[in-house]
Amino acid sequence: MKNAFIPFANPGVAFQARKPEYDEAFSRVIGSGQYILGSEVETFERHFADWLAGTSRDAGECVGVANGTDAIEITLRALLGLFPVPPGKLPAVFTVSHTAVATVAAIERAGCVPVLVDIDEASYTMSPSSLESAVNMVTTQRPDLVPIAIIPVHLYGHPCEMDAIMAFGERHGIRIIEDCAQAHGAAYSGRKVGTLGIAGTFSFYPTKNLGAIGDAGAVYTKDAALAAEMRALRQYGWRQRYVSAVPGINSRMDPLQAAFLDINLRHLNADNAARRSIAARYDSLLSSVRVTLPTAKPGIEHVYHLYVLRSKRRDALAAFLHERGVGTAVHYPQAVHSQPAYAGRVIIAPSGLPITERVVPELLSLPMFPQLIQADVERVAYALLAWDKEQLS
Ligand SMILES: *Cc1c(COP(=O)(O)O)cnc(C)c1O
Repeated sequence: MKNAFIPFANPGVAFQARKPEYDEAFSRVIGSGQYILGSEVETFERHFADWLAGTSRDAGECVGVANGTDAIEITLRALLGLFPVPPGKLPAVFTVSHTAVATVAAIERAGCVPVLVDIDEASYTMSPSSLESAVNMVTTQRPDLVPIAIIPVHLYGHPCEMDAIMAFGERHGIRIIEDCAQAHGAAYSGRKVGTLGIAGTFSFYPTKNLGAIGDAGAVYTKDAALAAEMRALRQYGWRQRYVSAVPGINSRMDPLQAAFLDINLRHLNADNAARRSIAARYDSLLSSVRVTLPTAKPGIEHVYHLYVLRSKRRDALAAFLHERGVGTAVHYPQAVHSQPAYAGRVIIAPSGLPITERVVPELLSLPMFPQLIQADVERVAYALLAWDKEQLS
């Protein structure tokens, strides 16, 4: 066992440990006779909304959907339903190129034009200055486009610079939709991400901080009209059964996943605390290693969906670690604007994406999941120390 391969992620460990809880939920759902939406979904929606809002009195609501990509698409469609762009114009949505491709795919699925901006070199999240120049470029040079939303992505569990982004959005009348797929529980100035913008979208892909045993997603919002629009959109545009008020899609959360998620939600604070303590352990063990470690600014609560370091010899380092039984992953091997589906086609910020392009080939994600044991954290660290030593000789 001692030298077993350390996987980069391992959701099955937690799922096995919680199996008795899931078995009970499984039997309850089968016995309920309700297999689409219904009370299990409503219960999870309420619990997740309350967990996000915490003690704040302006608690919003949560709309369960089929996955995190749909969560973004449905939020944008709902926004366009409430605030349509003038005929002949296309809605523009600003986000980063350094994200899961899902963010950009959802923007296009909603009929919007993605405009990709650069990142900050320390946090790897949206650069407020690149955002500003991209918005200025669109408003002055693209009369065919109307900026409708900014989607900051709280990548790796690290919140974006929300003060600057929100102030900018407010000044220009552009709404903020937070992509929180990697940041369940991350906080900015004491408030959980997802509660800061007009909406926060979540994915419950199994390896996320809060994961289902399959696909699921959700949107949090304090805007009741937006929530109502999203509830219609996720089910054929129905406000009343069998009557589509607006053209919708089918993106329902199923009660089985809702029941499993409600169980995992009870473990989420402990899981996030475990991720933070693993990160702290990596931070101290790796302090002498000549790689760039992740950072978190004061006032930010990082939830370490991923622990990502930076090395000029990334691929050689990954191979070295693999040989020593340490699994790693790359998030992401190519920025969205350089992937074949998007290259040469999407709009990018006027000064280009120099930081994204410099950083992407150097990023490497170390093993990170709540059940990663201390001995394995140390094995990962010792392998990195060995690598560092070998670079010297
Ligand atoms: C996982 C993820 C998504 C998409 O979620 P799915 O549930 O896989 O559709 C969107 N954005 C980011 C940043 C993600 O990490």
